Amino acid sequence: MGHFVRAAFVAVGSELLRTPRLDTNSLRVGEKLAGRGVVLVEKRCVPDEVAAIARAVEELLARADLVLLSGGLGPTADDVTREGVAQALGRKLTLDEGILGQLEDRYRRLGRTMPSIARRMAYVLEGADVLANPRGTAPGLWLSLGSQAVVLLPGVPEELDTILTLHVLPRVTGRPFLVRTLRVAGRFESEVEQRVAPLYPRFGREKITILASRGTVDLVLGAETPEELAQMDQAFSEVLQDDLFGRDEATLAQVVLEALKERRWLLATAESCTGGLVGSLLTQVPGASEAYLGGVVCYANSLKARLVGVPEDLLTTYGAVSRQVAEALALGARRLGAQCGLAITGIAGPGGGSAEKPVGTVHMAVATPHHVEHRLYRFGGSRQTVRELAANFALDLLRRTLKGAP
Ligand code: ATP
Repeated sequence: MGHFVRAAFVAVGSELLRTPRLDTNSLRVGEKLAGRGVVLVEKRCVPDEVAAIARAVEELLARADLVLLSGGLGPTADDVTREGVAQALGRKLTLDEGILGQLEDRYRRLGRTMPSIARRMAYVLEGADVLANPRGTAPGLWLSLGSQAVVLLPGVPEELDTILTLHVLPRVTGRPFLVRTLRVAGRFESEVEQRVAPLYPRFGREKITILASRGTVDLVLGAETPEELAQMDQAFSEVLQDDLFGRDEATLAQVVLEALKERRWLLATAESCTGGLVGSLLTQVPGASEAYLGGVVCYANSLKARLVGVPEDLLTTYGAVSRQVAEALALGARRLGAQCGLAITGIAGPGGGSAEKPVGTVHMAVATPHHVEHRLYRFGGSRQTVRELAANFALDLLRRTLKGAP
């Protein structure tokens, strides 16, 4: 078992640099190491070249105590990760008879004779421990270097994942690090940052990360002890108040459905520019049917009138993207048999905007048995961004309305 603080990752593979293939192994490695309290401080992609691999290992060992590499352990001539690491560390590669026997067995079981090139996979860095690969052919290698270590893993994600879990994580401990995510909706990232910034000096800026994603903002809090995490949670929650809708895995749709169930209310939706995105988010939650009746995607004005009962004169006088029509849609949705109606109508772009109603203009409304709430937003971004922002802000309007409703 080794104690490590800082890890670095090298994805080996020319295909990762020259084709649209993405390195996803680093995400897996980063996530799993974080779970053991080891922080990934740098990641790189390098081509299948001995010199490039050797340089990466040398440079990263200067700033990390655990360096992991993935890929390039196979039998073909371009699989040169062992050679690259051997060069960086001045180690020899020696043939391991045990691995050779296992490789020959494996090929025999598959009814094939082992090609001579496959012998390459039986070479081991001098002094390295062999990490068995139950999912594939090439084993991983662990080389301890005093307080540091270099780990070679196969590129195939399932193989990497298995060896990581079985053989690497049990050898690794870092600094305990507790993480909690506070989830915020109905605000933009800059607003949230402004509100919470005064708390940074108290807890340390580096312990807080803000992640925005189209209508929700996550504040990821990191702490070394449960007490510290509880203090951070309390301080940030006090500042965020009603903008905070949940923690960790909670979603807006889940929170809204729970609030509806508590009141024994049903919800129906009437969506125009979001084309059913709200319905899709709601129905992703198991058990949504207990509170969500369904909805109408009323994109054309004719359906807004015919299916949701929006008076024709509102459509001609104010236009489909207006407060009046949003409110009429929300009331119409209620008439589908729900206590609560949610409506969205807007201009997602890229065309269709005007000086008065530019692209990104979105009206949304929530109707309850007691009142109607309306909001107007001017969202920026692509068509898809506007649609996703509209869907999430509308769910949040519903959440706030349910909180305040008697
Ligand atoms: P093999 O024994 O299959 O040759 P290997 O260890 O040599 O394994 P590579 O040949 O480099 O690994 O990669 C095998 C496959 O694994 C690639 O075709 C690719 O699909 C996937 N892969 C490699 N590196 C990564 C990565 N960093 N992220 C995600 N997938 C990867």
